Amino acid sequence: MISIRGLTKRFDKTTVLNAIDLDIADGERVVVIGPSGTGKSTLLRCINFLDRPQSGQIQIDNLQVDAKKATKSDILALQRSTAFVFQNYALFANKTAKENIMEALVTVQKMPEAAAEERAMSVLAETGLTDKADSYPSALSGGQQQRVGIGRAMALQSSLMLFDEPTSALDPEWVGEVLDLMRRVAERKQTMLIVTHEMQFAKEIADRVVFMDEGRIVEAAPPEQLFGDPKDERLQRFLRRIN
Ligand code: ATP
Ligand code: MG
Repeated sequence: MISIRGLTKRFDKTTVLNAIDLDIADGERVVVIGPSGTGKSTLLRCINFLDRPQSGQIQIDNLQVDAKKATKSDILALQRSTAFVFQNYALFANKTAKENIMEALVTVQKMPEAAAEERAMSVLAETGLTDKADSYPSALSGGQQQRVGIGRAMALQSSLMLFDEPTSALDPEWVGEVLDLMRRVAERKQTMLIVTHEMQFAKEIADRVVFMDEGRIVEAAPPEQLFGDPKDERLQRFLRRIN
């Protein structure tokens, strides 16, 4: 299980995350929504210390990290417990689809090359990209590149998968295949924290939706409740604007 307490992030004097508390149960799918600039990406990035929070505690299974005292090995352990799917895919341009998936397995997880290759091929089969194993990102469609990005995260078999707007850089024609793959990931009871603007998808996939505004969690509830009966005035305004 994942437990976040008092997570706080400032850039210079601006507080971007203001003492965020969030628990995520094993296998739970939590979707984060909220206005632009409200700290959604920063929350994801602070959970695995891609951005270092100034204070707060993060617990992932048995690993407990306090931002104020985090050592290099704490941070490495945290990064090994999480897998990140980026909006812009963030694939290595000079590596094939298979090599992109193998990279962290070999360098971070210290998996032997042959085992990493086997894992990569099995993930490519699951993502429907077996025939693209030796293709470079430039030869793949946006949807295929993001499926490699998700495959790379799946291959890590980590406790928590973090998705930061995985479909928002895609041409509309590729969104469906990426959401389909995320549904398949969800079916495996993978714990997922997803930032998305795809409200229909959020309604369908989320166990719980979290609405953030100005660095705080304003409201959190199952999707039927959050969308059907929003309590906070800021959430009501946000939903009116996007509908
Ligand atoms: P969007 O929906 O547009 O992606 P967001 O909710 O993900 O927005 P963040 O990217 O987390 O918002 O940004 C929150 C705030 O933190 C913004 O005001 C942003 O300008 C600021 N911010 C983010 N990263 C940095 C940085 N590296 N340095 C300074 N300020 C930053
Ligand atoms: Mg963002």
